[in-house]
Amino acid sequence: MKKAEILKLLRESGDYLSGQELCGRFGVSRTAVWKIITSLKEEGYEIEAVQNKGYRLKASPDLLEEGEIVSRLGTSRMGKNLICLPSTGSTNVDAKKAAEEGAPEGTLVVTDCQKTGRGRRGRAWESPAGCNLYFTLLLRPSCRPGQASMLTLVMALAAAGAVRELGLDAGIKWPNDIVLSGKKVCGILTEMSAETDYIHYVVIGTGINVNQEKFPEEIEKTATSLKREKGEQIARAALLASIMAHFERAYETFCASWDLRTLLPAYQELLLNKDRPVRVLDPGGAFEGVARGINDSGELLVERPDGTLEAVYAGEVSVRGIYGYV
Ligand code: ATP
Repeated sequence: MKKAEILKLLRESGDYLSGQELCGRFGVSRTAVWKIITSLKEEGYEIEAVQNKGYRLKASPDLLEEGEIVSRLGTSRMGKNLICLPSTGSTNVDAKKAAEEGAPEGTLVVTDCQKTGRGRRGRAWESPAGCNLYFTLLLRPSCRPGQASMLTLVMALAAAGAVRELGLDAGIKWPNDIVLSGKKVCGILTEMSAETDYIHYVVIGTGINVNQEKFPEEIEKTATSLKREKGEQIARAALLASIMAHFERAYETFCASWDLRTLLPAYQELLLNKDRPVRVLDPGGAFEGVARGINDSGELLVERPDGTLEAVYAGEVSVRGIYGYV
């Protein structure tokens, strides 16, 4: 895709690139370059053209569109097969369909708006248009089905890492929420298709409140966005590319042992529940205790009042802070 390549080159150079140089690099005519530049300008890119110097990218619009994303991705596998949709029902549903049709590991479905975004246990994920990030990554790990739920934690680590690079103090509420100032800014929903001992595929859906300013009343007290916390607009495609880079590294580490032993220190450091009283809402019976951290399998270790340590598996369980959301 020449447009994305030209955009990437302009962005990376940060300086003027001559029309001649661009033609040479991509083996296209001056007219072809001019046409691409013109269409980029029409999409909202600010590109300065100076005689004898060439073109310089001054500013990019906040688009979640293929050229913009591809020009920012620095990964070797994650997001290389990109499905970009202006609007959809749920990116997890789209990714599952792509998986059934043979899409490769690392396939990324991104949209600007979800009509039926979902959270765990069939709950809704508020997904308005034009301000946030909604994406699903398709993986085909060769681990056992029971190990796949750890991938939620790997994505949480990647998303929190990318948000922290924006200068925000993101933490993780086990297993799958990214939290800022005690409020939820990101949710993750992992789904899998597997036989007893074989995974066909895993999809990890992530919704991040990026530039949303107002929330519906039901979640107003528990939800926030990056813009609200930072006080400035965040470029969605850049954030997505950063999450992909973080995830690719963390996933490689996870795949080396099929557990979280190497990622554990980084996760524990961001784990907001640590040493806090929690109520574990287990379908088999709720109980209270103090969260002490996670183990190599990503289970939350909860100390019961009698001092025994219980390992809680993420699957169907919710954890609530006793003195607040975390
Ligand atoms: P729990 O805290 O019970 O473990 P969860 O982390 O599993 O929940 P999810 O299923 O990931 O929660 O997310 C769904 C819930 O998140 C909804 O029930 C709603 O309360 C809340 N929610 C929905 N949309 C948003 C949003 N855009 N931002 C923040 N919170 C949201």
